[in-house]
Amino acid sequence: MIEKTLVLLKPCTLQRSLVGEIIHRFERKGLRLAGMKMMRLTDELLNEHYAHLSTKPFFQRVKDSMMAAPVIACCFEGVGAIQTVRQLAGPTNGRLATPGTIRGDYSMSYQENIVHASDSPETAVVELNRFFNPEEIFAYAQVTFGYLYAHDEY
Ligand code: ADP
Repeated sequence: MIEKTLVLLKPCTLQRSLVGEIIHRFERKGLRLAGMKMMRLTDELLNEHYAHLSTKPFFQRVKDSMMAAPVIACCFEGVGAIQTVRQLAGPTNGRLATPGTIRGDYSMSYQENIVHASDSPETAVVELNRFFNPEEIFAYAQVTFGYLYAHDEY
């Protein structure tokens, strides 16, 4: 099934000048970039986005880290994109992430781990609505589509 998913390039990624390199990883995989914007996150938005972490001792620290500089929000699309993007990102703690994953290749940290990626179809819908207005998500034909997938894969 063709899915859309949210990727946030975190403030650490901007500060380390890795934006182009990380976007390139998703592009070369074959994902279609359907939306992209730079934004500064607010405490209010992060309370929603990280609601599942609200009782954790590091909650405020994680929010502060996400507000330390702007982020780049991206919408990537592809067959099974949600799980594929999570796998490209790797597990949360960069020190333990397998080399070859984004976190495994670029992060030494649990917190400063380069990207956020939606973790399920339900969250992807909610998160894309949180970060994008409908007109900021672009539908256009990916000219390489027929070379990325077999006919029975979508
Ligand atoms: P993920 O981003 O892999 O989906 P979570 O949703 O559990 O992980 O956590 C959101 C973010 O909060 C993580 O990406 C990371 O930046 C931070 N975080 C989570 N757990 C920890 C932790 N134990 N210590 C420090 N930061 C953490």
